[in-house]
Amino acid sequence: MGDLERLKDIPSVDSLAAELGATAAGRRTPRRLLVRAARSAVESVRDEILSDGRAGSASSKDVRARARALALGEMRALSRRRLSPVLNATGVIVHTNLGRAPLSERAIQRVSEVSAGYSTLEYDLAEGDRGHRGEVVTDYLRELTGAEDALVVNNNAAAVLLALNTLALGREVVVSRSELIEIGGSFRLPEVFERSGARMVAVGTTNRTRPGDYENAIRNSTAAIMAAHWSNYSISGFVQRVELRDLSDICERAGLPLIHDLGSGLLADAASVGLEGEASIADSLAGGADVVTASGDKMLGGPQAGIALGRVETVGRMRANPLMRAMRPGKLTLAALEATLEAYLEDAERDEVPVIRALVESRGRLVERATELAGHLRDRCGGLCSVEVVETTARVGGGAAPERDVASAGLSVSSERMSTDALARRLRDVRPPVIARATEEGVVLDLRTIAPEDDAAALDALVAALATEEE
Ligand SMILES: *Cc1c(COP(=O)(O)O)cnc(C)c1O
Repeated sequence: MGDLERLKDIPSVDSLAAELGATAAGRRTPRRLLVRAARSAVESVRDEILSDGRAGSASSKDVRARARALALGEMRALSRRRLSPVLNATGVIVHTNLGRAPLSERAIQRVSEVSAGYSTLEYDLAEGDRGHRGEVVTDYLRELTGAEDALVVNNNAAAVLLALNTLALGREVVVSRSELIEIGGSFRLPEVFERSGARMVAVGTTNRTRPGDYENAIRNSTAAIMAAHWSNYSISGFVQRVELRDLSDICERAGLPLIHDLGSGLLADAASVGLEGEASIADSLAGGADVVTASGDKMLGGPQAGIALGRVETVGRMRANPLMRAMRPGKLTLAALEATLEAYLEDAERDEVPVIRALVESRGRLVERATELAGHLRDRCGGLCSVEVVETTARVGGGAAPERDVASAGLSVSSERMSTDALARRLRDVRPPVIARATEEGVVLDLRTIAPEDDAAALDALVAALATEEE
């Protein structure tokens, strides 16, 4: 039989798209994209038939099945690329690739209320006239940290850029070589300096910087000293750093502002959340920083945002910088941040703010949850799996406190029918996808980063992944 004969067996784009639309993933996918997936499958099958003698021996049924399989694969690939919720079973509390901080119920509620209609974003109800964007958040941040003034931008990278551009355009900023950080996703401090218009003057060495290194670098063209938090790395061994307090003294003597890029944005008292020795925003201000910059979605536990806090004069100049207009946060950000900060003002962060909740949960409670889940899983997957409750080590996460281990617990799950890698892959293919770590013994699900409300969903996901037919 000739190839041209086989071409007639290729299903039409419309019928293939309709088939896709009848599947679970298809119901969640816009029709235009289903048509695109169907068209691409049809074209591929046509090319295969025309270019490959093998197709000549295929039956009509084979051709249809091939077109269908290609179209389904295309649709699933589309579906996997969407921004969708996942369960974070990695044990990394602030996980940048998984969206950093989950929002509190209160923040979600506020975002939903404020976004559904008009709002007081820049409106003063008392005056019936124009108001100031983010005014309440400024007030809350001052109350919580003791800062004289605060402003919010879209992320911490913007806050750093704005601080440098405002305080040191065309002038020099002295910074230790040990703090020329790179944060994942291409935030490299030297490059940010370049774009800010400030000149970076690196002093000291990779592992040791002394007070005199800063002092000797100060000249007429120096505009500020900057300190940056080692938020995703550590240096150990023969190390010397200059404490913030001492940097602040040097700045004071020289009449220069001290910029502290804190990153983590810890608002809670460090010891009360088990992070003894970590600097909070209030610690940094008390240590003498004139402006502290931090992320809203790391240890603060709010939306993606950058926060700059400090002296009225310094923060005021940043607010007046024309770049501010290009960095200002939207109403969704401000609504979520305002609600998150309210939880702190009510001392309710341990119960309400997900990253703080995850951080302070006891290992004992995690073991209880894991034991219960393990029991249910054995009941539901019978002979298909083996489950163990295991002790694990969770992490605070990059950009916050990289070296902090947190004693944690979870499940180790394996199946005789597939490798742990295959099981981990299947867990990423169920709904919601579960992101877990494959080890030699089993796939480990750390419960510290799964909210207790999501235990049932995690259990369903495990059952579904273990039951999936071999591909
Ligand atoms: C995370 C971090 C940044 C970047 O903050 P984004 O909010 O991701 O823009 C900058 N500096 C430090 C020290 C950080 O930890």
